[in-house]
Amino acid sequence: MRCPVCVRAELVEQLQNYHYRECGLDNVILAGITVRTCPECGTLAPRIPRIEALHDCIAHALVMKEERLTSSEIVFLRKSLGWSGTLFADNMHSDRSQVSKWESGKVVMSKANELLLREMVARGKKIEDYKSIDAARKESNKVVSLFVRIDEAKRQWTDEWREAA
Ligand SMILES: [Zn+2]
Repeated sequence: MRCPVCVRAELVEQLQNYHYRECGLDNVILAGITVRTCPECGTLAPRIPRIEALHDCIAHALVMKEERLTSSEIVFLRKSLGWSGTLFADNMHSDRSQVSKWESGKVVMSKANELLLREMVARGKKIEDYKSIDAARKESNKVVSLFVRIDEAKRQWTDEWREAA
């Protein structure tokens, strides 16, 4: 494939470590992935497989880290939940200006809030999920049970809140 930037040379493919700045964090390296490089202008084009799973993996690593989260890590985790700044503020029982301060590093997030954020990412559940369960309960006014079943093909447990038969 010809370089899309300078159009002067064919891209050369090789396995190498790639500094994944596009994720918004400055210390993430994708180890040994295929990178296409232009020998003329130096343009790098990484081939990143299963990008959603990659982002889950990074989010999990951040949740488990011992040090406090940095402001850019807070941004990454918020995005990994698919939240806008406003939704993040709502779900943290805070307001938009406070979120801006956390995400710009002007204010350090309290430990309690940081734990809450980590918890939400670890569970992979958005607060709306809880609300929807509550709404389902209120609407039906019936007992809702947690059904847990194994998917034999995927060897995975799945859970579902629904009305008991
Ligand atoms: Zn080029």
